[in-house]
Amino acid sequence: MPRWSLLSPGPRLCSTRQWSRRCLSSRPLSQTAQDQQSAPRWADTLLLPKTSFPLYNDPSKDPSIKTKTTDGLYQWQSRHANGPLFVFLDGPPYANGDLHIGHALNKILKDVINRYHVSLGHRVHYHPGWDCHGLPIENKVLKQLGVDVNELTPSQVREEAEKCARKEVASQMAQFQEFGIMANWGPDTTYRTLDPEYGLRQLEIFKTMVEKGLIYRQHRPVHYSPSSRSALAEAELEYNDAHVSHSVYVTFPLDLTSNNTSEALRALIAGKEKVSLLVWTTTPWTLTANMAIAANTDMLYRVALIKGEDNSETVLIYATDREDALKSVSGLFASSLEPLGDISGSELVGAAYRPIFAPLHELSTTLPSLPIIASPHVTNDSGTGLVHCAPAHGAEDYAVMQTLGLITSAPIASSTASTPVPAPNSSREIVCHVNGLGQFTEDVADVIGKEAASELVAKDILSDGGRAIVALLTKIGALRKVQRFKHRYPYDWKTAKPVITLATSQWFANLDDIKDDAIAALQDVDFVPAISRNRLESFVRSRSEWCISRQRVWGVPIPALYHLPSNAAVLDSDSLTHILAVLRAHGPRYWWDGPVSAFVPLSRREGLTDAELDELWKKGTDTMDVWFDSGTAWSTLEDLYASQTQTGAKPSRTFGSDVCLEGTDQHRGWFQSLLLTSLGAATSEARKRTAPYSTLITHGMVLDEQGKKMSKSLGNVVSPLTVINGGAGKHDKAYGADILRLWVATVEFVKDMTIGPTVLQQCAETMRKIRNSSRFILGSLGDRPFEKKVERGELGLADRYVLHRLHKLDAVARAGYEAYNFPQVINELSYFANITLSSFYFDVNKDCLYADREDGIERRRVLTVLDQVLTTMTRVLAPVLPHLAEEIHQTLHGPDAPSVFVTRWTPLSDEFVDVQAEADMDKLFRIRSKVNSLLEQARKDGVVKSSLSADVAVSVSTAATSDVIDVLGREETTLKSLFGVSGVTLCDRNLDAAPAWQYRDTLEIDGASAADCSVLPDLMRCVGTEIEIAVRPAALEKCPRCWTYTRPAADELCGRCTEVARIQPVVSS
Ligand SMILES: [Zn+2]
Repeated sequence: MPRWSLLSPGPRLCSTRQWSRRCLSSRPLSQTAQDQQSAPRWADTLLLPKTSFPLYNDPSKDPSIKTKTTDGLYQWQSRHANGPLFVFLDGPPYANGDLHIGHALNKILKDVINRYHVSLGHRVHYHPGWDCHGLPIENKVLKQLGVDVNELTPSQVREEAEKCARKEVASQMAQFQEFGIMANWGPDTTYRTLDPEYGLRQLEIFKTMVEKGLIYRQHRPVHYSPSSRSALAEAELEYNDAHVSHSVYVTFPLDLTSNNTSEALRALIAGKEKVSLLVWTTTPWTLTANMAIAANTDMLYRVALIKGEDNSETVLIYATDREDALKSVSGLFASSLEPLGDISGSELVGAAYRPIFAPLHELSTTLPSLPIIASPHVTNDSGTGLVHCAPAHGAEDYAVMQTLGLITSAPIASSTASTPVPAPNSSREIVCHVNGLGQFTEDVADVIGKEAASELVAKDILSDGGRAIVALLTKIGALRKVQRFKHRYPYDWKTAKPVITLATSQWFANLDDIKDDAIAALQDVDFVPAISRNRLESFVRSRSEWCISRQRVWGVPIPALYHLPSNAAVLDSDSLTHILAVLRAHGPRYWWDGPVSAFVPLSRREGLTDAELDELWKKGTDTMDVWFDSGTAWSTLEDLYASQTQTGAKPSRTFGSDVCLEGTDQHRGWFQSLLLTSLGAATSEARKRTAPYSTLITHGMVLDEQGKKMSKSLGNVVSPLTVINGGAGKHDKAYGADILRLWVATVEFVKDMTIGPTVLQQCAETMRKIRNSSRFILGSLGDRPFEKKVERGELGLADRYVLHRLHKLDAVARAGYEAYNFPQVINELSYFANITLSSFYFDVNKDCLYADREDGIERRRVLTVLDQVLTTMTRVLAPVLPHLAEEIHQTLHGPDAPSVFVTRWTPLSDEFVDVQAEADMDKLFRIRSKVNSLLEQARKDGVVKSSLSADVAVSVSTAATSDVIDVLGREETTLKSLFGVSGVTLCDRNLDAAPAWQYRDTLEIDGASAADCSVLPDLMRCVGTEIEIAVRPAALEKCPRCWTYTRPAADELCGRCTEVARIQPVVSS
């Protein structure tokens, strides 16, 4: 039997977790005390790993690493990076409250992308921003001060709100910094929507939109949120399918004295004393604002006699098509129903009816009757076919009555005339008894009388006010039925409370004119995930206007002027040019502090004095929708692009952002408002069809481990700062910033994702393995780059294989970062660290690293590979785990070395690709796995403790040829390392029997098919070729230095150790 190798595979030293002196001290010493004194201390001659890099550490707490990888790095790359400009426009979080895990996800995802670009040598422009205006902050300060909004002047409210917002910004900024976000957090390199220059830029954009005729004012019903005390845009609504309303069937008495009743109707009701219109509504509280009842002229209406149990008679009118449905409503038609006949809708229209609450009014007879009108929006699929119209509370009601000229609007904004458009004589002002708090106002007495009004005033229309209305309807006998009714109803997106429809005077942006351009512009945008394109497009398509005014003081003003004598609003290019000049000189707050005369443009002063003007004019008090504020954030980049043009560099864009990344809810929020303000303010043809972003990325929501939404009441909120710094709870371990970041990189962020103790523990374990691998390499290198590298041609199969895998890691990671697929990066990195390194390469090379000559060729091969592995791994993990990357880099190159991000991450050379090495190793891995299972059996049976006490014999027929046999032959000297045994014998026939014990198995090694063999009969013999593998006792003695069983009995040490001991004599300690 040819003895192919006697070289040892090396000691089974402790696992990488345990190595250190501890490893050696636990060694079961066979030497006696005397031996120890006289014999060389072989352990001291081993080259055990030495590193200052600890197994557990949170490098984000190291101030020098922190600065070097965050603020310092941002500034360095701003000045020195010479690659292309990469612009990332930060969607501003709302400056209120502590950051939640969603904020952490959002900012860390952005940071990973930014850092990847810095790695590539790009110059990254990223300025974090904050959304500072709006109701929550206004409410917060009022609550803190314990006052009502009316007790303070607008300027006082604004002053307090600004203080509060700035404090919140500072607090959130400090929290963001804990996440390790690379940015310059200075006041000039961050933005806030409350900054004067931000507001002025926003007003310039608004002015352009006014000049383009996109802004108009209307008094009409809008979605209004009592809980936010403000009008809402369609985009701010959420629909609740399970909303329950109390719907009512009520009767309105027909005015039998009216001259406009048709002959057909008169004929049917002749002689009847009580004739009523049957109406159904889901919003009884709107009945005080009733101004008409609508019928469809194409439908038939039934006139029917209803007899009560007391024999009382009532005639009811309703749509004939609805009779069956109405009959099924229990108790609606009392006892008997006798149809008197049908009339067409057109024969009903024109008749009049009495106001429903007239019986409650002290002067009921003075109240005018109201008209039955025609409207196509009445259908026969619900209700009674007769629709109660309250234009203050219904967009369709408003539209039909406006078309018929039955209502007037408040004066429309006029750019030239200061007199209102005259209204038709028959029209009336819209009746509305609901205030901004969603409560009945005192005006309701006009309709229901003073006494009944006392039951309603100041009550919430959606709760006790609504119930009081039902009680009043019962009292006057107008209520025939009340029913709970479940239906789809709009809610305030922010407060999750129902909204109402309420007539108010608001400013609108006309989106119809820019909608087509917006859709066209989105065609050039890349969406991640791709499906989200549909979502944004459908939101844009479904909007025709944007209600941009809010009735709050904490915001950017809509600088309209009102001419009091005519009650007309003035908002035009001329007025805005003047007002903006004034605000630029005095600051935006001057809109609240300054006299109105300062804002009236010359063209409208008519030679009057300031005092006279102050009497005649009023400043508008509306502020802009906060989505308009944050939507203009694209304009913060204008200076950047202007400076680019000056320096002659050619950026990929000329305005806007390369990437925007926010939660999926921003399809209806910021993504839209960025697009619409950008296109609205566009003055060039190119800009009119270009979106302010190239790529839009959306992420889902973070849920708890059970997939439940986090809420304070459920107690399942995971705070990012608790993840980093630990907390009071049992599971609240301090994981550090990098493990939070690792979690972000492991989740499929385009969907909803979960976080909790189990998930975090898994991330900590992944981190431990990555650190462990890095630590082993640093220890092997002795915390410094390896200098005596070998040439590529000198590398062994395992070395070439590992570099091939490293090349794959490098390529897969770069592709993952490019495609925003961060789990792909982390999965590949984990596989490489755990399988390729820990389970394979480290394992098979420990003997060589520890026991070989320090400058032996094998050791230098391994260190050449490990040096490259650590460099590449550090590049790969740096965007996600910047602190760890810097810690590794610093351990290797010293604390004064430039940051790991300073050297450009270039792709690994294709020279590393070695398909042959991979194919060869795959064959050897099959045999290795077979050897391991045999060793495992031997261990179970107690004949083997350390695999080093075993040899392996592989036998194969001499006639057989195969790739596997070729590889075995070529790699014979390295097989023992690969298998972790003391010797490997290759022989060409059946194994000799005879060892003390033996575990053997066969392995089929060739895949040549029968078909191949029929064509090539010579290969017949290879079909089904097997090799036989046997694990048996080591043939030689244990070497006291390296513990391999490779020492001939006559020698003191094994051959390798004898040579090492000659060259590197033991130094006594
Ligand atoms: Zn040895």
